[in-house]
Amino acid sequence: MFWADKIAASTQGDSVVNDSKTPSGRVHVGSLRGVIVHDTIYRALKRAQKPVRFLYGIDDYDALDGIPAYLDSNRFQEYLGQPLCNVPSPGDGASDYAKYYSGEFFEVFEELGVRPEIYYLRDLYRQGRLNSYIDTFLQKAHLVREAYKQVSGAERAENWYPFHPICENCGKIATTVVSDYNGKEVFYTCKPDAMSYVKGCGHSGWVSPFDGKGKLPWKVEWVAKWDLLGVTIELAGKDHSQKGGSRDVANAIYRKVFDKRPPFHSPYEFILVGGTKMSSSKGVGASAREVANLLPPELLRFLMLRTQPKTAINFSPNYETITRLFRDYDTAIEKYQRAANNKDLIETWASSLKELEITEAQISHQAYQQYLNTPELTQEQNHDKAEISLYKLTDEKLGDLTESLGLEIDLHAGVSSEMIETEAYYHSQSHPELSPEENHDKAEICLRKRRRNHHLELINEELQKRSSETQLGKDLLALLYSQLDEQIQPYHPFDFSTLISLLQVPHLDIEAEVHKRSQQPLTELDQQVVRERIEVAQKWLDDYADPEEKLILYVDEIPESVAALDEQQRQYLGELATRLEALSEWDGETLQTEIFTTTKQLELPPKLAFPAVYHSFLGKERGPKAGNLLSYLERPFVVQRLRDVAQG
Ligand SMILES: [Zn+2]
Repeated sequence: MFWADKIAASTQGDSVVNDSKTPSGRVHVGSLRGVIVHDTIYRALKRAQKPVRFLYGIDDYDALDGIPAYLDSNRFQEYLGQPLCNVPSPGDGASDYAKYYSGEFFEVFEELGVRPEIYYLRDLYRQGRLNSYIDTFLQKAHLVREAYKQVSGAERAENWYPFHPICENCGKIATTVVSDYNGKEVFYTCKPDAMSYVKGCGHSGWVSPFDGKGKLPWKVEWVAKWDLLGVTIELAGKDHSQKGGSRDVANAIYRKVFDKRPPFHSPYEFILVGGTKMSSSKGVGASAREVANLLPPELLRFLMLRTQPKTAINFSPNYETITRLFRDYDTAIEKYQRAANNKDLIETWASSLKELEITEAQISHQAYQQYLNTPELTQEQNHDKAEISLYKLTDEKLGDLTESLGLEIDLHAGVSSEMIETEAYYHSQSHPELSPEENHDKAEICLRKRRRNHHLELINEELQKRSSETQLGKDLLALLYSQLDEQIQPYHPFDFSTLISLLQVPHLDIEAEVHKRSQQPLTELDQQVVRERIEVAQKWLDDYADPEEKLILYVDEIPESVAALDEQQRQYLGELATRLEALSEWDGETLQTEIFTTTKQLELPPKLAFPAVYHSFLGKERGPKAGNLLSYLERPFVVQRLRDVAQG
């Protein structure tokens, strides 16, 4: 069972799935994992037709605790320690810092088909919806302290209270510490040494904790959200899910203070992003926005879903990773297509199977026809003859069906005339009143019926086996949940790595080349997918490809690096030129085979032969599959180049 379906199956009653994010800056692609995981649980519940809501909270009462490298630190310095919703927006189109970065993230949500009900912590606080929780936690601060101590071992002072007012003097929320509560107001101090990254102003006084005047510490806030919103499912990243970690603390607080069961939880792993590549000098990085700009939404979802949540995902947009992602996706699409075709076939087979049934009504009808031919026989005699003829008539259909199922069934076994004779003899022993012909017919019916039942059993078994194969396996469910609209539209995939290569061949009409290389005429959808992929491939080449991943074809001149080739290698190239000139086909596979067999023929190790080919066209040791590479090029050019290099 797919992991999300398993979670969906275990729920009872109404479910509320919740996830949240602190909008402290540009959102890293890794944060999309939690989003997609929760969205998929939500979709699984809907697919199981269970009542469910999907909420997404923006924790914008959290403090600005650092200034991202891409922002002007002088401009934002003064806002360190203030709630994110009170910090000015770094760009146009948003009222504040929190809305700016959450807005960017939500655009990606929209593109990925993720549509939760969004809420902002500033609204929950300012509208007073958390007031009663704030009061409860302040009244029962000792229970919160106990929970911290028991679960994480963190000691809190006797006069520690779980609340941070916004300092009335400096506006910071990160630096305030509460030391008293009288049921209406808290006494706080804005401590200079409370935080390492920012100093408090030293102000102190009594202030109301309600209606947005401050916030709960986040583990406590987490609990308040669960209870207020009725959250039943919330997973957390591995970092929060360690034993004694934040999630454990929150769970313990919920149990101690409210005596309630925390939402369903299961940790999910990180996305590990290949370090240097994701922050290349071209300015493209690993933000969710940037990765969503590169990958089509289904592929980005698939990247998150083909790996189960408890396993880390390694992602860096290099040639290997990107082309494998597309290849895996295409493989899943093809597998789905086969399963879908099989499903149609099974329906056809099942209806053919129905036609093999011999009903009493059919026999009666046939018996009447029989009577018209042989009115001298009794009703029962005609009935028996009719039944036999129906078995014979449907044998042909049975033959067709077993053949298309690939079953080897001998239609004639089991009802030979000898067997009928034998059976008739035994029958006559118990029915001496019947004529030999009557006993013969009864025997034949008996044998044919037995044989038919056996055949039907075999066919049913086969059909059941086949229909179990059409059930979507885990990989196909990952594909299903990767779709934006929960419907898989199969297409004929065109290999992505080939597109990357083709794009780098000078003077090539790429769409025409795709048509030429496709095994079947392309549908409207196929063409749309190809065009989309050409765009992705081009973007990858422009923004992400390393120089060594790029294909630089030396069309007009011979690469200088061929000077290093030795006599044996040149001889090989000369021989290869002759052989390629004579080839009847000019496609990747044929060329690859020829390149390889030539190495055998000349007894030149492939590790010397292949670099000779690459040096001749690319001026380097390595390249894409050599057969494919040459197939992109015109034959006369290839042959001439090999000869030129061979002659030195
Ligand atoms: Zn202050």
